[in-house]
Amino acid sequence: LPRIVVAGNGQLGQMLQQAGAPMQLDVMPVDPNADVELGLRPDDVITVEIEHWSDSVSGVQLKQHPNFRNAAALHAVIDRQRQKSLLDRLQVPTSPWVSLEEGDLESQLASVSDKVIVKRRRGGYDGRGQWRWQQGDQSEAEWAGECIAEAMIPFSHEVSLVGARNAAGEKVFYPLTRNWHENGILRASVANLPVPAEQQKNAEEWLGRIMDDEDYIGVMAMECFVVDGQLLVNELAPRVHNSGHWTQEGSAISQFQLHLRALADLPLITPPVDGVSVMYNLLGRHWKPEWLEVPGVHVHWYGKEIRPGRKVGHVNICRPDVSSLIDSLKALQALVDEEDKIVFEWSIAQLQ
Ligand code: ATP
Ligand code: MG
Ligand code: MG
Repeated sequence: LPRIVVAGNGQLGQMLQQAGAPMQLDVMPVDPNADVELGLRPDDVITVEIEHWSDSVSGVQLKQHPNFRNAAALHAVIDRQRQKSLLDRLQVPTSPWVSLEEGDLESQLASVSDKVIVKRRRGGYDGRGQWRWQQGDQSEAEWAGECIAEAMIPFSHEVSLVGARNAAGEKVFYPLTRNWHENGILRASVANLPVPAEQQKNAEEWLGRIMDDEDYIGVMAMECFVVDGQLLVNELAPRVHNSGHWTQEGSAISQFQLHLRALADLPLITPPVDGVSVMYNLLGRHWKPEWLEVPGVHVHWYGKEIRPGRKVGHVNICRPDVSSLIDSLKALQALVDEEDKIVFEWSIAQLQ
């Protein structure tokens, strides 16, 4: 089997490495911003866990390797203007948008909608590099030219689809995951709720179309808004995704293993999902040993320094059925910090 080299050595690279361990699949996360010779071998396969890096020695070596996967998808996705254009070209529904040009900004914003969200074309994540505008607000003209503006969508909730495609063009998907973002950052996900068959089918069809168009190999995630029961695509992530973390214990094949299977050309089968799961992000706070007394709790700690609001770990709570999941959520809720209790209220509300 090839060695899998991951551009990026954050938690996603770490979890890819963990997923490879049982099969002794060699997964090597590296820092693409370093100025070091990586010693890449001709039969290595290169994948990413981040989308942006510098033209450092390592960064250039990774990009120029003949087995660097998904260059086309990365090119299309790292710039929001290109990403939105891709969705439009493939007739995948997305929120109305414009690319901001020099000139009267307010009229450009107003042409999209009376409430818009302006997003930097490049580099934003966890809601960074975004601002909101509505009729009457002062705008920040210096953002023109590097941003898109899209209509604020009055969604009822947010969902995401995680799927994978292999070199033969076979595609598999997880069930839609329901996500709660606060200030642009994911706080929790609930997986394997009943969803309308039409939503699942449309989402798979769209993500499949996107992956086919880009000749994509590996896991891709698609974030969506649900409006009047219809899906609108928010954005794509050409990699394993935070909203798929529940699959680590909520499916016999995690998104990390699925990504490795696709890259190493191992059999790709639909990941079995039997029970129900909640994923709770640890944002700037530590976990506590007593959490492990709660049935179905699995702690994933990234070993990063704690800073306010920073993603430093996550907890998966996986149980065979809704009522036992609710029992576990209530038990864990009693043990977490005050500010996080609301996460459990939200999660339980989704399950009822
Ligand atoms: P990620 O960390 O997922 O990459 P990001 O920084 O790329 O996030 P987006 O996914 O574009 O940001 O937006 C973050 C969140 O902000 C969304 O999940 C949603 O809650 C809200 N949001 C973004 N765009 C819109 C929109 N057009 N209408 C309403 N809410 C929006
Ligand atoms: Mg994003
Ligand atoms: Mg997002």
